[in-house]
Parts: sequence; structure tokens; C-alpha cells
Amino acid sequence: MKLFYFRTIKTILLIFAITTSGYMFSQEKLKIFISVDMEGIGGIGTPKMTRSGGKDYATGRQLMTDEVNTVVDAIFEFGDADILVNDSHGDMQNLLHLQLDPRVTYLQSNIKPLGMVQGLDSSFDAAIFIGYHARAGNLGGFLAHTGSGSVKGLWINGIEVGEGGLNALYAGTLGVPVILASGDDKFSEEFTKIVDTRTVITKTAVGSSAAKLLHPDKVKAKLKTKTVEALRNLKTAKPLNVSNPVTVRFKSSTTTRADVVMSIPNMKRIDGTTVEYKAKNMDEAYRLIRVMYKYISW
Ligand SMILES: [Zn+2]
Repeated sequence: MKLFYFRTIKTILLIFAITTSGYMFSQEKLKIFISVDMEGIGGIGTPKMTRSGGKDYATGRQLMTDEVNTVVDAIFEFGDADILVNDSHGDMQNLLHLQLDPRVTYLQSNIKPLGMVQGLDSSFDAAIFIGYHARAGNLGGFLAHTGSGSVKGLWINGIEVGEGGLNALYAGTLGVPVILASGDDKFSEEFTKIVDTRTVITKTAVGSSAAKLLHPDKVKAKLKTKTVEALRNLKTAKPLNVSNPVTVRFKSSTTTRADVVMSIPNMKRIDGTTVEYKAKNMDEAYRLIRVMYKYISW
């Protein structure tokens, strides 16, 4: 009887241990890609703060680093993870990497063919875009542009995109959903028209070169809440669908650049400043777009 009693207790304890630890052990290690731009970081309200050598650029770097650490912290609060952080602004040497959470790996420098999405592959569970901005020509978006000042417009399969939309489409072809993005109100409005996801609005744009700011602590609190919310709903997140071939339409700021771009085989001229190319997939499209706006500078 006594033996039976102990066996029963042992069985109950075993079942209890399995069911309670089940939540922790059934969760696989998450793999998260974070691309971080600067214009949409909370607490940044001038163009100078985003430029190396500009007034308060050092503060901008600190704010950018703090936001990444906040998101990383929230991810680890949710569960164990492999996190790759890709510095995605300007020369891509902005994050204060000595202050970055040591649990992440960090991609630096802008000489990389896939720029803001470098390092992303189909093994990732999700992507998060922090500090993003609206596309070139967006009415009122804070520091709105696409890639560089060389781009007046960019379309993928007929959809006009900025950096956020382009990167989300790229992630989509790898089967990776964008579960959270942050930036100014105009970016959020534009991005959620293309991507069914949640955003954190870090500031209200006041025209193209000014913004009404929230205190960075408030932005970080929102980022933390939304990151956990995004991870809780990870199973329902859907990557964007892109059909191949991928038609890239690129409107340059100058006719000279369009002339030079025409040297690329199979490039089609649409008008003085606009060209079009049929790429076999998003990978080819992305690399080509980067060449056109970054390395052809006339
Ligand atoms: Zn940027």
C-alpha cells in the first residue's frame, strides 16, 4: 500500500514536471533578424542627428543602440534566441557595438550587396525593422527617401515601395514575416498598406525635416510591449508573397543615371528618368536595385 502510495505520488510529480516544463522545452530557440535604420528612431528630430559629424549625431547613435537593446531584451524575455542585428543606415557603422547586448551578432559596414537585408535567410523565424522612414516622395514623411537621393520612385511588380516595403518583400520570398516595424507616423501608414503587421510610431512627422518627438523612454516602452506581442502571435504572422519574375521599375533623379543604367543587358527604357528590368527573383532584383542607386552616381 505504502509502495503504491509513493509510486502514485511519483507519477503525479512526473506528470506535473512534464506539463509545467513542457512550455519551456517545447519552444525552439528563435532566430530573429533585426534591421536598424536611424531616421525613424525615437528622439531623433533633425537631419543632422542622423549624419556623421552632425550636431547630436552621437546622441542619435546612443538612441539607436538603446532601441536595439530594448527589443533584444524583450525577445530574450520571451525565450532563448539567436539574433542578428544589421546596421542599416548610411555607412552602416552607427550602432555603438560595445554597448550592444552581447547576446547578439552584429553586421557592420555598407559594402554589402544586400544592404539592409544582408544576412537574412530562410532559417530566420521573423524579421523586425527598427528606425525606418517613408519612401521617396512620400508627402510629409520625416527624411523620406528610398536608398539614397538618387531614387525618385521604385516599384516591385507594380507596387510602389520604399526601403521598408522592398525589404519586407525580400524577406517574404525567404518565407520570413516582418512581425514589427518602427518609424514615424507616415512610415507606419505607408508600410501597413503593404505589410499586415504591427508598428510602433516613434514620432509625428512635421514635414520632411522636422518631427514632434515622444520621449525616448516612452518609445522604448512601446517597443518592448509590441515585441512581446509580436512574438506571442508569431504563428499567425504571414510572409509577403512575391511572384517571379520580379519586375523592377526604377525612377532616377537624373536622366544621366538612367542613360548609364541602360548599359545593363535587358534593361528597358520607359522614359527620360525611368527604366525597367525583369529579374528572375527578388535576390537578383535587390542586388540590381542596390547597384543602381548606390554605385551609379550621376
Ligand atoms: Zn537611414
